[in-house]
Amino acid sequence: MSYKTIVGLEIHVELSTVTKAFCSCENTFGGEPNTRVCPVCLALPGAMPVLNENVLNYTLMAALALNCTINKESKFDRKNYFYPDLTKGFQITQNDRPIAVEGHLTIDTDNGPKDIGIYQIQMEEDTGKSLHGDNETLIDYNRCGVPLIEIVSKPDMASGKEGRAFLENLRNTLKFIGVSDVKMEEGSLRCDVNVNVKDELTGKKTAVTEVKNLNSFRAVEKAIDFEVARHIALLENGEDELRTTRRWDDVNGQTVLMRVKYTQADYRFQPEGDLVPVVIDDAYIETIRAQLPELPADKKARFISAYNLSEYDAAVLTSSVQLAEFFESVAAKFDDANMVSNWIMTEVLRRVEDTEDNFEVPFEADDFVELLNFVKSGKINNNAGKKVLREMFESKAKPADIIEDKGLLQVSDDSAIGVWVDEVLKDNPQSIEDIKGGKDRAMGFLVGQVMKKSKGKANPGLVNKLLQEKIQKM
Ligand SMILES: [Zn+2]
Repeated sequence: MSYKTIVGLEIHVELSTVTKAFCSCENTFGGEPNTRVCPVCLALPGAMPVLNENVLNYTLMAALALNCTINKESKFDRKNYFYPDLTKGFQITQNDRPIAVEGHLTIDTDNGPKDIGIYQIQMEEDTGKSLHGDNETLIDYNRCGVPLIEIVSKPDMASGKEGRAFLENLRNTLKFIGVSDVKMEEGSLRCDVNVNVKDELTGKKTAVTEVKNLNSFRAVEKAIDFEVARHIALLENGEDELRTTRRWDDVNGQTVLMRVKYTQADYRFQPEGDLVPVVIDDAYIETIRAQLPELPADKKARFISAYNLSEYDAAVLTSSVQLAEFFESVAAKFDDANMVSNWIMTEVLRRVEDTEDNFEVPFEADDFVELLNFVKSGKINNNAGKKVLREMFESKAKPADIIEDKGLLQVSDDSAIGVWVDEVLKDNPQSIEDIKGGKDRAMGFLVGQVMKKSKGKANPGLVNKLLQEKIQKM
């Protein structure tokens, strides 16, 4: 039997504007409950919403970065439903005429690049938060009215891996353009997945399952794969199922039924009469387009061609804006881009926690250039270079000072190294026999001994050369 997996994603992203969507309350995460609320976001009688211009601008940036067509006229609607953290009794959203439609984002798959379609992007507002205790439920309304965009993908993904790749790529793109901090753990990036499976022989499909509120990339991938297996079993057993909403149980690695899914009709959509339609022209759209920075995919392609980097290195170095900027500012002042890339990819990144999110080093690009120059010119050897870098992270001192302080200048003087080599050869007659007998490993041991004697300062190439010469003459 052959099955086609059909996966679509619905993603909610909180925009990082200074103020909320329809009022001037501060838009930040956390804080004392119910301290950032006003009559508008609490929906007190008579309060009128006004669209925050930056919410529109940020949404347009996201829509353009995701290759969408912008609707010159869009409007807001009320999505009616009752929930304690929704003070109005409805949520302001865009239903039938959203701000943007028909976009796409390209992901890398095992079979090469693949375009994942985007149906639409709509502006909406977030709701408050319920905090469930043992005997009570407390409600924090700070999040009411926080601006959201909902991004609805087409069902173009065919596996958990592709779903994850799409979400990661989307997150990286939104982070690059600076419209959201896209933190899944703080809820500024939230993902629901829709999954069903089609029997390619009979054409029979399962009903779509929605898995809500996945809070990590890993959970997205696992939940999709779990649902695909479950749907195939449903088809094979000839079972039908209503459209359901499920949640992911990370502990047991499975999805759990929450409810039979609401349909559009359950929400009684109606136009939001307090907000005027959003009307924009081409000139406005072009002004926003001009503000977009270079997008991650373009930056990666440019890094490959301009700096001759590998696909993998370019992908890592463009995984965050700060990391890419650091690489470029160093590469601009140092003529060996591959050496810059290698040092960042290994020595720097291993010392920087969570490279994707907050790439931050405690020194300037110029200090790093200085360190690379010391290594490249042979004034210090590679190992000493690593020591200097560690010290730059710890004490924040300048490379030249660290080198002087620790006496790390490389010794490249034949006579000085010759003395150490002679001593080591004298102490290790067995190793000399071994080398003469063809055991190459003994050579590494002798080099190590000389390096040790020099306290790491000897030029390893010269040590090797002198050892070879002297042993040959023995
Ligand atoms: Zn407010």
